[in-house]
Amino acid sequence: MTMLNVGRPTRPSEVAPAQEGPPPGRGLLQDEPLIFEVGGWGKTGVDFETAADEPLDAGDLAGLTRAAAPDLPGLSEPETLRHYVRLSQRNHAIDLALYPLGSCTMKHNPRLDEKLARLPGFLDLHPLQPQSTVQGALAVMDALAHWLKTLTGLPAVALSPKAGAQGELCGLLAIRAALEARGDGRRTVLVPTSAHGTNPATAAQAGYAVREIGQTADGHVDLADLAAQLGPDVAAVMVTNPNTCGLFERDVIEIARLAHEAGAFFYCDGANFNAIVGRVRPVDLGVDAMHINLHKTFSTPHGGGGPGSGPVVLSAALAPYAPTPWLVHDGDGLRLEEQAAGEAVASLGRLCAFHGQMGMYVRALAYMMSHGADGLRQVAEDAVLNANYIKARLSGVMSAAYPDGPCMHEALIDDSWLEGTGVSTLDFAKAMIDAGFHPMTMYFPLVVHGAMLIEPTETEPRHEIDRFCDTLLELAAAAKAGDVERFKGAPFHAPVRRLDETLAARRPRLRWTRAEA
Ligand SMILES: *Cc1c(COP(=O)(O)O)cnc(C)c1O
Repeated sequence: MTMLNVGRPTRPSEVAPAQEGPPPGRGLLQDEPLIFEVGGWGKTGVDFETAADEPLDAGDLAGLTRAAAPDLPGLSEPETLRHYVRLSQRNHAIDLALYPLGSCTMKHNPRLDEKLARLPGFLDLHPLQPQSTVQGALAVMDALAHWLKTLTGLPAVALSPKAGAQGELCGLLAIRAALEARGDGRRTVLVPTSAHGTNPATAAQAGYAVREIGQTADGHVDLADLAAQLGPDVAAVMVTNPNTCGLFERDVIEIARLAHEAGAFFYCDGANFNAIVGRVRPVDLGVDAMHINLHKTFSTPHGGGGPGSGPVVLSAALAPYAPTPWLVHDGDGLRLEEQAAGEAVASLGRLCAFHGQMGMYVRALAYMMSHGADGLRQVAEDAVLNANYIKARLSGVMSAAYPDGPCMHEALIDDSWLEGTGVSTLDFAKAMIDAGFHPMTMYFPLVVHGAMLIEPTETEPRHEIDRFCDTLLELAAAAKAGDVERFKGAPFHAPVRRLDETLAARRPRLRWTRAEA
């Protein structure tokens, strides 16, 4: 997530020369050091009682007794509050402005969902509590499963995967188990060139060789190439629908038919389900397995690495291999079958500790129930309408990657309109930060040169979208008018300027070490 300092829009006359940069404090915001650098050892916001003078027997701790104090930061309560509030001011948030990251679906998180997730009966559960004491939580999981099965039309769902990527792994492992059960050792998974990086990574993780399916000039799976590549070694075809170009794969039924005809399974990446929820049932498209990103389609906060939740719906053929735990109804209520035994005898076993993300289940179910079936259909309709409104407003100035026809929930721009301006997609995105907007997803999908992938989601009102489009169009005009400085040095007003993002990703500094005195 980009750290930024959202202020009033920047006018070109205010832009400082690229190399000098502003001082760290700006306006009413101060630069904030690390928490370890703020506090001092021994300070605390709480008045602890002096510990009883009964040293633990080292044996009680299995020899893990600390040799030295843990070197925790010491802050009083006001210092702690200021530290975190200052940090929060330096970060962008969906509660501050539109967050146009394509493929990420950053939508408003209803406070009702948060309130319900914080009910003590959900919040204070321990995953090892006796099942008789958590029947309400199990009922939430059961109701969520019911909604997911109804919305997709598929007969089974594995709730436990903790992200979309883990859902993909779950689906592919179930496919592998089903194939192995029939003595079939297929070793290849086909993935389109435009796929999210998790798709080929998952296939490789599940032990498969990955082959790419080509794409047509208008951004769809190349059916002829798919048909040519299908054969007795193909275990599954993984296709995202709507795809990562923001387009509905109109040949999806034929894709599924071709896969099945070749004895393969059709795995659908359902991360973009928010564009079709309530309008299309994946079962009717021939889907065998599909993960659903609860944290995208059904709200719930995400970003910065979590939390996520990626339940996978499964066809009848794949259901027996779903991971444990299984939620089963028996005489006295609901029960979690934790072992690959009994009704779960063919299960592929555990994917993660415990039962998945309980807090996400509550939020997602609250989102579904508060919208109702009709409201969820409108979610998809409004998400698509908003994206098409953006595409229409920007077209003509910025170049839509696939100008013909409407898009789904994302508007995809390429960088051909920037040709000759000396401004790149990256520069443009950085200048957006100075203008108070978080950049859109950049350079993804890879099949589109200099891609800018914009997803407004359904929760943005028209005046917010207009403000966003006005800003982009004003920046576009500046780029075309040759005001390169405004872009090359941007962001001028963020707490951090241009970072070496590759270095940060490759060699992250995850440990704080005390400076030598
Ligand atoms: C977000 C996303 C994923 C991965 O989901 P995570 O929860 O981030 O692991 C996979 N495919 C697509 C198309 C996505 O947008």
